[in-house]
Amino acid sequence: MPKIITPSHYKTDFNCPRCGVLAPQKWYGLKKPQPYNGELEIHEVNISRLPRYAPLSVGIRVEKIIVPWRLDISVCQHCVEYSVWDNGNLVYPFENELPSAHEDMPSEVKTIYNEATLVFKHSPRASAALLRLAIETMIPLLDDYEIKRDNLNTMISKLVAKGIPEYIQQSLDTIRIYGNEGIHPGEIVLLDDQDTVSFMFELINDMVEELITRKKKIKETYSKIPLSKIQAIFKRDNKVKK
Ligand SMILES: [Zn+2]
Repeated sequence: MPKIITPSHYKTDFNCPRCGVLAPQKWYGLKKPQPYNGELEIHEVNISRLPRYAPLSVGIRVEKIIVPWRLDISVCQHCVEYSVWDNGNLVYPFENELPSAHEDMPSEVKTIYNEATLVFKHSPRASAALLRLAIETMIPLLDDYEIKRDNLNTMISKLVAKGIPEYIQQSLDTIRIYGNEGIHPGEIVLLDDQDTVSFMFELINDMVEELITRKKKIKETYSKIPLSKIQAIFKRDNKVKK
């Protein structure tokens, strides 16, 4: 599995949001002089000599007082394209055309999913392998199915035995097979097949919607049914404890 470093502010190396390659980054900052004289200054940021300041996430107030605004550009030393950072947040390029992770996706799975989006442009095949890892990670986390970690093929067959819809089974197997790094050369050529891999991102989100979100919504709605009605349902289905 290729090493992935998520882009983050003032980091010296990460997977470029433009080309996907893990490459060194040069940083440039745009400064507004105080008092503002109609000119802006651009300077290279020497990461090793940066003053220590409170992390942006916890020090926004401090940040606002010390630095009224901060605009940085990171330039990838592989593709020589720029990314734009506003107060430490990546604002360009925008999220690529891939769908963002479903909000109900478990966080461990989301991390893998996001890595897969990062390498997508550079290597759809590596992206597909990460998506396979994402479903492998997700299945044992599905509360309602209680499936123990096992090889992916076995876990899918257990889900099928528990009555998942056929289209979810097909999605799971699609990702299992396309994402298998051990696949024989020539069987499936994913190197240039961005469309297939980008569709696999949608499939994972559909799985989350079907196996997590819908289950959760149904449970919530069902829990509001009055007790007498629930008892009647239990009686109908002979589930009343004697
Ligand atoms: Zn690049």
